[in-house]
Amino acid sequence: MFDVAVSFPGEHRTYVEAVINALSDKIKNEKIFYNGWYTPLLAGLDLDTVLQKIYRYRSNLIVAFLCGEYQEKEWCGLEARSIRALIKDKDLRKKIMLVRLDDKEVDGFFDIDGWINAKTNSPKEVAEFIHQRLNGEIIFPVSIKNDTESQQDHTDSRKTQPNEVSPLSVNRIDKLAYFTERFPQLAKLKILLVKTSIKYPVKDDGDFGIPLGLWMLKGHLGTIGYKFDVSIYDERLLLKIAGNDETEKKKVFTKFENYVKDYDVIGVSLSTSEVFPAIEKFRIAKKLGKITLAGGIFAASNEEFLLKSGVIDYVISGVSTVPLSELLARLYRAKQEETLSELTKQRPLTIRGVATGNFNAFESTWCPSQLPTMRKGLWIEILKQYGKYIDKKVDIYTARGCIGNCMFCSVQRESRQEVYQKDCEEVINEINFLNEKGINYFSFKDENFFSLPNRKEILEKFKGKNIKFKIRARYDQMIDNKISLQELQSCGVVEIQYGLESPDWYIRKNVDKGDEDKSDRTALIDFIRSHSDYDIKANCSFILGIDGEDKQYYDNLLDFIQKIYDGKSQPKIYINFLTPHPYNSKFELPKYALVTKDLNYFTHKHPVCFVKGKKLTQKLQMLDVYDKIIKHTCSEKYNLTADKMVALRKIFLNEDQGLTDDLEYPKTDGAVI
Ligand code: SF4
Repeated sequence: MFDVAVSFPGEHRTYVEAVINALSDKIKNEKIFYNGWYTPLLAGLDLDTVLQKIYRYRSNLIVAFLCGEYQEKEWCGLEARSIRALIKDKDLRKKIMLVRLDDKEVDGFFDIDGWINAKTNSPKEVAEFIHQRLNGEIIFPVSIKNDTESQQDHTDSRKTQPNEVSPLSVNRIDKLAYFTERFPQLAKLKILLVKTSIKYPVKDDGDFGIPLGLWMLKGHLGTIGYKFDVSIYDERLLLKIAGNDETEKKKVFTKFENYVKDYDVIGVSLSTSEVFPAIEKFRIAKKLGKITLAGGIFAASNEEFLLKSGVIDYVISGVSTVPLSELLARLYRAKQEETLSELTKQRPLTIRGVATGNFNAFESTWCPSQLPTMRKGLWIEILKQYGKYIDKKVDIYTARGCIGNCMFCSVQRESRQEVYQKDCEEVINEINFLNEKGINYFSFKDENFFSLPNRKEILEKFKGKNIKFKIRARYDQMIDNKISLQELQSCGVVEIQYGLESPDWYIRKNVDKGDEDKSDRTALIDFIRSHSDYDIKANCSFILGIDGEDKQYYDNLLDFIQKIYDGKSQPKIYINFLTPHPYNSKFELPKYALVTKDLNYFTHKHPVCFVKGKKLTQKLQMLDVYDKIIKHTCSEKYNLTADKMVALRKIFLNEDQGLTDDLEYPKTDGAVI
């Protein structure tokens, strides 16, 4: 008897073989029916009958890898016939698990729910899903009618791609509901994903945008086959809706307590500047006996700090959907077994990539992942909620992570210096779809657009289409790869964000930026100024507080800024202060000393550390050049002016020692706009 039999077209043998290899780490080879291992045995037999027998009587689970070629090949044609025969048998069809390799139609399979997308799941992840399915952890409903929304998607995709059916056409959430109705004992796990407000917005729009990461997770969790009911609580959106009405704004901060009561699990995403209000949310959730989990960029190297707060049960410490999915699956099982509330006391789970109260287990194994697809239905839901407030602009994920090593940067830690990219075609379809819905400005969430050479294909598709793009890039790679601003302009690029850190290579190398010696300041000045020739806004961020700075450096920096910013050339100028993570064992900056541990200040917008031994005069010189740069570039919108950080300046200049180092955990609600 086989635990699992796989069926696939030969064209995709490499992918399937990788799945099988990963699977054979988990179950014995003799428990897997993989034709590559049985070719001599199968030769000359009546395959039709043999396969029917293997699938029907000798396999507990059949994994069919579907694609356009599936029904065209004789081998697969036979297998497809066998599997279709099983589907007709209502007892046997629950043995089938589907993996989609492309978006093409395969006769007879589209009525079946519960497929896994091979484009967004690595072979290892697919193997993990198979393993979980064998262990009864994933239940895929089958043969359920399409709902209205999926028909809508289906119609849309037919309009643009007459020969294809969109893989996004299946609304799994409603289908799971259908399934749950028939199996009421399988209660859903109710999950609330939270985006908090922050205290120090620096843009004029109050730092408002769609919390795309949370929506992406919501979409992903709704399509992997578990009974999850995922909602998003976006405090910034609620504040936006409240507008200038102060009473309504105040109400927003009290809403959470009522809202959270309905959920089993509360997950909050944290960047450094969100830690303070997030801890407050965790505290409320914990008081109500909820399971709490933290994710986001701050989580990647501050697991211990977060867990020791006593209000966080689990930390997902990197860019990956795998550990979160595994954790929620385990919690789901616990809910079925009615032991969920026990978990809140014991935190007994040990899951790869998840940090728990068991500190020995939290040196999180990195779990690579790909970027999940955003379903069209999900985008429709997002646009319905946010459309009024986003001015036809959205961020979209094209890739996540960075291979860089900049010592101040959380991104490279969160992604363990790997880049996960979304398929170009998928991004192009997403843009086309959103453009049809009225969106005409797209900001790519790539950390560095040109680190992946094929990304340019995306832009080229939209030449002359009147769609605007903002991208992030590295100056050195733009030069090395001879990327022409003129060409980017013709593709609709209107803004490029650069983390320049410093125009002085000797200072820049102290943050491990990793670029070659580009000490020719004139070339950099010309490069930034030339953006205005192509109506492209250069968006340049610099860091202050790097080891090696002195009076001469500050004078040169101001001179540099004055040269790139004048009546003709007006780049956006962001001045950040070097900001290490305040608490952790793995993100140390030994040369630097913190002046405060108040997490409200860890926004890159406040000077919270200095090079050990730095004299007061040098600190004053740094703040002086900061103020002069803001004044010269009229960039108050992007940088906090002196009057907005009076208290912190005092601390930084060491005038009031009593205010430093006294906040281990946020104690009051920091959620103030
Ligand atoms: S290049 Fe940018 S994203 Fe990459 S590590 Fe450096 S600062 Fe972070």
